[in-house]
Amino acid sequence: MIRTAILSALAEEQQGLLELLQQPEKISHAGRDFWQGRLHGQAVVLALSRIGKVAAATTATALIERFEVSRIVFTGVAGGMGEGVQVGDVVVATEFVQHDLDASPLFPQYEVPLYGQSRFACDAALTALLLEASRVGLKSLALPAASLLHHGLIASGDRFVSGAQESQALRSALQVGGHEVLAVEMEGAAVAQVCFDYGLPFAAVRTISDRADDQAHVDFPLFVKEVASRYAQVITQHLLKSL
Ligand code: SAH
Repeated sequence: MIRTAILSALAEEQQGLLELLQQPEKISHAGRDFWQGRLHGQAVVLALSRIGKVAAATTATALIERFEVSRIVFTGVAGGMGEGVQVGDVVVATEFVQHDLDASPLFPQYEVPLYGQSRFACDAALTALLLEASRVGLKSLALPAASLLHHGLIASGDRFVSGAQESQALRSALQVGGHEVLAVEMEGAAVAQVCFDYGLPFAAVRTISDRADDQAHVDFPLFVKEVASRYAQVITQHLLKSL
């Protein structure tokens, strides 16, 4: 059976999906709750990655080993980093890089040791469907302000980036390494690497909850509470219908 895993980082992001889950069955494993059921005609497992790269890698591995999912889709929020990536915009990932991985001078900064690469790519076919689902989903939300849809590199690391200076420094350092990032979050690169190891298709969409600046700690909780769940709900709906 083809089963799609839908991962969220926070309970608020998952809430809208849980509400729509049919024949829900909760299975606790590895200190986490996994929800099996059907969503828009597809067999799915909903899970919380939890926060940070290690937690997300554990959840992804459990989804693959224990629940035998065929693909993983991440929906969540992120801080905007690229120019013109504003709160309310949506970023569909092409690739992920770990902004806090640095084994230099043994390996180039950002390179994952023994993999010979610093970026992990999302699955092209699944990502194309997610991009289309995000486009249609955004339109259907009929938001008051125009939200843009971006497509590109996302950086992950074990840090909530919440200062304009910090964000600028991070962005510049990544640029020096040849990585032009659109957004920053805390889990995607870990899930991408696990999926690479297992040869499993992975795609990710992140709604911009804050600009990773001095306002981030104020913008982030507001956004998560009021809109993140709705975005995840409509984008997932259009994606599952297109699979
Ligand atoms: N205070 C929160 C913890 C949030 S950590 C709580 O109560 O649970 C921030 C989460 O949102 C992470 O899952 C991360 O992936 C994403 N995120 C949003 N904005 C971010 C930013 N500016 N920097 C890093 N991660 C961000």
